Amino acid sequence: EPASAPTPGSAAAIRVDPECVFCRIIAGEIPSERVHEDETVIAFKDLSPKAPVHVLVVPRTHLRDVRELADEPSLLAHVASVAGDLAAELADGDFRLVFNTGAQAGQTVFHVHAHVLAGGELAEGEM
Ligand code: C5P
Repeated sequence: EPASAPTPGSAAAIRVDPECVFCRIIAGEIPSERVHEDETVIAFKDLSPKAPVHVLVVPRTHLRDVRELADEPSLLAHVASVAGDLAAELADGDFRLVFNTGAQAGQTVFHVHAHVLAGGELAEGEM
């Protein structure tokens, strides 16, 4: 049986910050309602949903924000691809993808995550 293709981004080592809440969720030390997991990313339901479907797609490796993630293009593409798959699986397929980047833009967890907002008509300017 042929080996399956590696998950995009899987070549790089996974970095962990023991102080980071998302690293702790990834490690299973803090519970979350997972909707997807593979070798390089996990996705779970946001604790404070801002839309009927609100999930976070989070690379397993500790990167600060989307600027750092952009240095790993295949991993960034995989995050976008998983977001699209989850929007189709959990909603009607339409979605908004948001990376809050920096405190002034509302970033509170400094482990990169894509907000996937879906499940109905989203207000302009929401998130
Ligand atoms: O983009 P920002 O950094 O503000 O997003 C962090 C998100 O992580 C928030 O929407 C918050 O509700 C969510 N969160 C969570 N579970 C945690 C901690 C934060 O879903 N344990």
